[in-house]
Amino acid sequence: MRTKIAAANWKMNLTFQQGKELIDRILTTAPDPGPGNKVVFAVPFPYLRMIGKKVKGLEQFHVAAQNIHHKKSGAYTGEVSAEMVKSMGTEYVVIGHSERREYAHETHEMLAQKVDLALEQGLVPLFCCGEPLEIREAGKQDEFVRKQLEESLFHLNALDLLKLVIAYEPIWAIGTGKTATSQQAQDMHKGIRAVLASKYGKEVADSIPILYGGSVKASNAVELFTQPDVDGGLVGGASLNADEFIAIIHALHS
Ligand code: PEP
Repeated sequence: MRTKIAAANWKMNLTFQQGKELIDRILTTAPDPGPGNKVVFAVPFPYLRMIGKKVKGLEQFHVAAQNIHHKKSGAYTGEVSAEMVKSMGTEYVVIGHSERREYAHETHEMLAQKVDLALEQGLVPLFCCGEPLEIREAGKQDEFVRKQLEESLFHLNALDLLKLVIAYEPIWAIGTGKTATSQQAQDMHKGIRAVLASKYGKEVADSIPILYGGSVKASNAVELFTQPDVDGGLVGGASLNADEFIAIIHALHS
């Protein structure tokens, strides 16, 4: 049985006060993620400490950074390192979100460096992959995602790979309201497992949680999360609404 995860990605939304109110609303209803399952809040850097304190002692609730820099430390004004994030009590870090690949021009090589720095600090990398619309329309999504995995993860040994969570997020479904069908998600998740199995073996591939991201909401979470290779979701827009996100947490039980 793999761990199922509902991960919220707040992106660059909410003031500190709004973030506090949202997390309080979610936690006071004490949603039960189900046995062994997890809820992760990927929040802006300045909120890591506050959210970390709120989830402290709640075994199934965790805090994540949305990014780390690909260098260990030094003269990189305005950047935040893996070590800094870890020193604030953070447990997870999102790496390779498509918005960062696009707007911050993050390359496969930079992402490989980030994964290494996260693991060095004992942070769980939540590694994102996924294809743009033109690649999907050309039917080339499998090779596109394979390359993302090979270039940024295949330098890891099996023990380190097992520390990761992977999120498949087709770019055409992020923030667009256009969700991949549950069959499209299942097919890609199965494909990702096959890519991982080709290098690390089936047992390793079958142990890694693979989340789906792209317009997940309360109304489609159950359908997506009940696919055999879909182990929960990375949720942007709907994670900013307490009722929606609580329902998505409940969908982990399905
Ligand atoms: C995301 O931010 O990773 C995401 C999937 O966003 P949304 O749920 O809004 O599509």
